[in-house]
Formats: sequence, structure tokens, C-alpha cells
Amino acid sequence: MSKGKAARVQGTHSHGPLPACVEGFTRLQHSVTQIIDGSTLIGAADSQAAIEQPCQDTVLSSVVAPPEDDLTIALSVTETSVPVSAFAAFGLRRELLDGLAAIGFEEPSPIQKAAIPELMLGRDLVGQAQTGTGKTAAFGLPLLERLDAGQRTPQVLVLTPTRELAMQVAEAFNSYAACMKGVKVLPIYGGADFRDQIQHLRRGVQIVVGTPGRVMDHMRQGTLDLSGLRSLVLDEADEMLRMGFIDDVKWVLEQLPAERQVVLFSATMPSEIRRISQNYLKDPAEVTIRQKAADGRRIRQRHLVVNGPQKLEALERVLEAEGSEGVIIFARTKAITLTVAESLEQHGYDVAVLNGDVPQTQRERTIERLRDGRVNVLVATDVAARGLDVDRIGLVINYDIPFDGEAYVHRIGRTGRAGRSGEAILFLTPRERRFLGGLERAVNQPIEVMEVPGNASINQHRLDRLRQKLTTALQQPVCNPEERALLAEILQRVAQEQSCSPDQLALAALELGLGGKPLLLQGEERWGQSRPGAPTRDRDRGDRERGGDRRPFNDRGQERGEDGPEDNMERFRIEVGWRDRVKPGNIVGAIANESGLAGRSIGKIRIFDAHSTVDLPKGMPDDVFADLRRLRVMNKELQISRLGS
Ligand code: ADP
Ligand code: MG
Repeated sequence: MSKGKAARVQGTHSHGPLPACVEGFTRLQHSVTQIIDGSTLIGAADSQAAIEQPCQDTVLSSVVAPPEDDLTIALSVTETSVPVSAFAAFGLRRELLDGLAAIGFEEPSPIQKAAIPELMLGRDLVGQAQTGTGKTAAFGLPLLERLDAGQRTPQVLVLTPTRELAMQVAEAFNSYAACMKGVKVLPIYGGADFRDQIQHLRRGVQIVVGTPGRVMDHMRQGTLDLSGLRSLVLDEADEMLRMGFIDDVKWVLEQLPAERQVVLFSATMPSEIRRISQNYLKDPAEVTIRQKAADGRRIRQRHLVVNGPQKLEALERVLEAEGSEGVIIFARTKAITLTVAESLEQHGYDVAVLNGDVPQTQRERTIERLRDGRVNVLVATDVAARGLDVDRIGLVINYDIPFDGEAYVHRIGRTGRAGRSGEAILFLTPRERRFLGGLERAVNQPIEVMEVPGNASINQHRLDRLRQKLTTALQQPVCNPEERALLAEILQRVAQEQSCSPDQLALAALELGLGGKPLLLQGEERWGQSRPGAPTRDRDRGDRERGGDRRPFNDRGQERGEDGPEDNMERFRIEVGWRDRVKPGNIVGAIANESGLAGRSIGKIRIFDAHSTVDLPKGMPDDVFADLRRLRVMNKELQISRLGS
């Protein structure tokens, strides 16, 4: 370290003794944001990057520019020899290192490198990073390290926006702690049995992972004792904001002991989230992971402009010409997911749908089928696909434009995972073109233009694929030897009877393989021109104006100019209204979590003075209905009732 400016202070640590390795850490007084590009620390750090490591087996750190002032300190992280696990350098206990070895984590990811040392010291932290950057272990490992085995009441609370995420995070904690004794992790979320959760809480749990609504329920009725809480994690804070949970999150924060560690992770930093970190976090360490194009998550992004009525055909063409292993198609509404899936099915694709109508158990099966390749195309709404972590997605198609830049970032983040490259294609109607700039700013790179694939490129693609299939069939026969012998016999016999050449025979077999479908697309192409008489299968929802409205939920149905609920929906009354200062987002968020419905499948919401109405899919199970009756929004019971019954 250079110059006298680099005054060092002993790391502070609010709970218990420092782990052996951390004890030797010294810190610079500079307290500035860490900005990390790939694995290179380009901003300045107040501790991790500036620490001198007493345990020789890692990482860190050479000053590449002398510190003129706090903000110009630039450091690069260099890996040195790694005799043990790179995680050992954090001073994690043996059992945790064994747990990590068992699940195959070798190297900490950039956000883990930056966050773990801070959290080991008990500091608050604000972390900004996209999905898939390894945030769960970034907070999970240090919080597990700091658990007090003797304390029976919960020490760690993680709030997540959805129950899928709650389950995932709880599972991750369990896998890291697989070799630790007596660590109890409990996911609590709406829709699951309340009494069961109470039982578990009574028996003693150290780590609770839950969605805000259910966590608040337990806190209010005294079944979740947070008086001994040491750490709160707000995971995917921007999603919680989008789903209307932000007031709930503040409420929880206000109930916590004054001495507590707060960790906030978010993919984006809208001003409300910034404010939370300013108001509720104490001198937080800040970590920002910038996604660099070159860091392995390379996503090629393109857009094409297409009129609403031609979107379905454009989609089929794009899939034919660009289709890859694993495709996710994002649509704006449940109805559109069904239209799209039906049409693709007719064209011979293995398609699955993920929307709010799909029950939980089936959702998990669908994701499993996508993961192992039994299904190649998934058509989904945003909320239903949230947190979806499948490596083999090669292409994301934004069939409908996302609501904003954040949603776009989340969607395309479903591809390019696990170090693979990915493709993203965005459909825009001519009127939606003006939103392109905003999305480009959100990803900080241009989204190239592309044409709807014409006949020539589709036909070329078909020929290429046929050649590939033929080659594969030659190299890896599907039939067993006996069957092949029978097939050979047929060939021989036909060749004799018809006295034809092997070439002629092979051609006939190939044609047979086409199954009567035409090999090539014929006819005139008229893309980009209006096509009178063309069937308009899609009802042109894509053409709707969006403007800057970031509240997707409250305009539902109004543009159709009708008043009753949609065919497959039922209207309910809930006892919360303007007076309670409720916003549609609060209602959507609470109901989504309690019922397991995706936010997008929750229909029109109308807010009146003292009550509201909400349209929900028909056929709600009685137990869900009973749970919803007790559900509280803005601190009032919903007392949901069917309208007109
Ligand atoms: P995020 O919360 O940032 O979206 P996750 O914590 O869910 O990311 O991690 C994404 C994936 O990367 C998970 O499958 C996780 O098991 C894996 N992962 C995280 N950290 C590491 C690591 N250090 N080494 C290998 N895999 C990791
Ligand atoms: Mg996560």
C-alpha cells in the first residue's frame, strides 16, 4: 500500500470473536463503493480489496493507481496460488468448506469475493448485481459462519419476493450447511400450512427464509420471535418493490432489534430502494457488479419490428431460423401465452406454458422438463418465470415488449447462464419502437436490428437441419440391430422389385422422413408490408400503448371497454380501499404470494373508497380462499368475498 494515506484500522465486528483468518484483516479508512467488472475490482474498497491477507492462500491485491483521493483508488484483484479452497481464505469454518466442496463451488464469484469479507465483519451491505451472479452464497456463507449454535430463536431472516425464491434460498442454505450440525432453516411462505410452520418455529429455527406477507403474519401473532435476530437479508429488493411489498419490508425493518445487520441485494437500484438503504442501513459497504460483455455471460441482443397481427407468424419464422436449444418466449398476459403455445404446438414444437394458472407442483415439473430437454420451448409470463434458473436456455424471445428496462434485464438474464453464450430477440410493433432507447440504456449496449427471417434463410436452415439429422442418424442409429436387419431387408427387396439405384432409394427414404410436409417454404414474401386478407390470429394486444406507466396491473380490462370480468375470471370484493392508501401493487403482491398465482394472472383491480374489487381466475380452491380471507393488506384483513354470490 502506498503513502501515509492508507491509514489502517482494525476491522470491527459486532457479534462474537473474529474468525481466525479475519482477525488479521486490517482496513483502509477510505469508505467508497466497490465496483467490479468481471473479476477485476476497478473501484475502490474500504476493506476487502485493501486488506492484507494474513492467510497466504489467496487473492489480493495490487494497487495499480496510487490513491489520489478516495475515489481514484484502483485495485486489481489477482489470483495467486490456491492451496486449499479459495473459500478458505475468507476464514470460513471447516464444515462450510466441506459443504461447498460437496456442491462443487471452487472459486468465489466476484460478488462473493467482495461481499463475504464485509459480512463476516458484521457490516451492513448494499449489493447490486444481476441474477446468476451468486448472491445467495455471498450472504449465506458469512451468515452461516456467524451463527450462534446456542441460540434457539431465529438469528437470520431472509425476505424474498416469491415463494419459489424462498424455497431456493432455503435449499441453498441447507446445502452449504450440510456438514454443520444442528442448523435449522425454515422457508415460510403463503399457501403452505400455517400450523406446520408454527410447529417448526417452536422447535427452534436459526434461519427463516420467507415472503413478506407470511413473515408479517407470524410476527403479528407472535409465532416468529425476532428479538434475537442478528441479520436481515432483503433478497431481490427491486422485485419486492415491483410486487408491492415495500411497505411490508419497511414494517418488518421497524420491528427488528436496533443492533442488527441488514443486507440488501437488488439487480437494479430504483430510488425507493436507495432510500431504504439510506434510512435503514448503517454505513453500509456497497458492492456493484457490472456485467461486462466479455465476462462469459455474453448475450447477443437484437430486435425486430413487426405489426401486431403478424407477430405469430414472425415468431414461427424466428424459431425456425434462429431456434436453439432451450427457448423461452415472454408474453404479456396469460391469454397470449396460451395463443402462442397453441400455435407453436400446431407447428410441431414441444411447448410448455408457465403462467399464474399453472399450479405449483406442475410448475416445478415443467421447469424440470425444460431443464432436461423434454420440452424445448417455454412460453411464460414475467412473474411465472421469475427466478427460473435453467442453464440450457439459448434464446429468449420477448414476444411482447417488457414493461420497463428492469423487466427486460431480468428476462434476458434467463439466457447466457453458466458461462454459455445466449441470444435475445425483442419484438416491437412500429409504435413500440420508441421504447427501444430506454431498453438499450438499461443494458448499456445497443440492441441490434434484425429482419424477420425470409423464406431463403428459413429454407437454408431447414436443409442444414435435415443434413444434420441424416448425419446423426447415420452415426447414432436409433433402431436395435435386429430392427436394422429388417429395415435392410426391406431396402433390398424394394431395390430388387423396382430395380432402382441406392441413391434413388435413399431419396425416397428421405422424402418419407419429411412426413408429407413440404421441405421448402414457397411463395411470395411480403414482410413489412400490410397484407390484406391475412388472418389476424393475434388480437393485436402488442400494439397497446404503454407510455411511461410502470404500474402494469391497474389498467387491465379497461381498454376492452367492458365491465364484467373476463370469461375465465371471477370478480371478488376485498375490504381495503383508497382510505387505507392501498395501491394495486399491494393487492397483487399479497394475493400472488398467498395463492401462488402469478401477478400477471391477477386480473383487473378497481379501488374504491373503502373496498376494492379484483378479478381472479375461476376455480379457486377452498383452502386458498380461506387463506385469502385472513390475508392482511395495509394492515387490514382482506375478507375476500365473491361478488354476486
Ligand atoms: P443470484 O442470487 O445472484 O441470482 P444464485 O445465488 O442463485 O445467484 O447463484 C446462481 C447459480 O450459480 C446457482 O446455481 C449457484 O449454485 C451457482 N453458484 C453460485 N456461486 C458459485 C460458485 N462460487 N461456484 C460455482 N457455482 C456457484
Ligand atoms: Mg438470488
